[in-house]
Amino acid sequence: MSSIKEYFSSVGKGIASLAKGMAVTGKEFVTPKITEQYPENRQTLKIADRFRAELKLKYDDNGRHKCIACGICQMNCPNSSISLKSKMVELPDGKKKKVLEEYDYDLGSCTFCMLCVTSCPQNALEFSNDFEQAVFTRDKLVKKLNYRPEPSVEEIIAAAAAPKPAMDPEQLAKIKAEALAKAAKIKAEKEAAQKAASMQQSDSKSDSVADSPNSDK
Ligand code: SF4
Ligand code: SF4
Repeated sequence: MSSIKEYFSSVGKGIASLAKGMAVTGKEFVTPKITEQYPENRQTLKIADRFRAELKLKYDDNGRHKCIACGICQMNCPNSSISLKSKMVELPDGKKKKVLEEYDYDLGSCTFCMLCVTSCPQNALEFSNDFEQAVFTRDKLVKKLNYRPEPSVEEIIAAAAAPKPAMDPEQLAKIKAEALAKAAKIKAEKEAAQKAASMQQSDSKSDSVADSPNSDK
């Protein structure tokens, strides 16, 4: 009798489970589809602005970038995806100026960490969201970012001789506030470290007094 009961109980459980599964299937059947029909939808495809697809040098309206070939991005890149070549040009006052000759970027080894962008003092770099980067050979992923004509030596000299524009007061105030905040943070960290060191010192002193054989007397 109990085996018949178990049999019908398991049949009931099976039917309940099937109904539950079919409910999920039915719900998905009527839910609007969100599958992207790529590449047919290429014209209407919306990629998030902040998507990191490829490193680029920012160019202004005159086709000039702001890179000064300082090499900070190259030094900060954790996997050597950036390789710079620079050259020195002589200015009329006899001073020498370093200028960019070639900026190579290996998209194939880039981890899109963005350290290069955030560390650039000139704000000369950005990531584009152009995600279509498939190629057949890896060497095609090594790109020269300064692909537009570089300024001539005469243009560099003229730019160096031109008076520097006054800094925007708002920007100046921001830089000052950041510097003050940084100094306050360093001071607070230093004080905390000193406090911790003195506490540790006094702890070790009291431990040594407690451990000394005369401490019981
Ligand atoms: S991109 Fe920026 S960090 Fe890199 S070399 Fe040029 S100025 Fe320096
Ligand atoms: S995003 Fe990171 S890995 Fe890629 S080039 Fe910049 S620093 Fe190097």
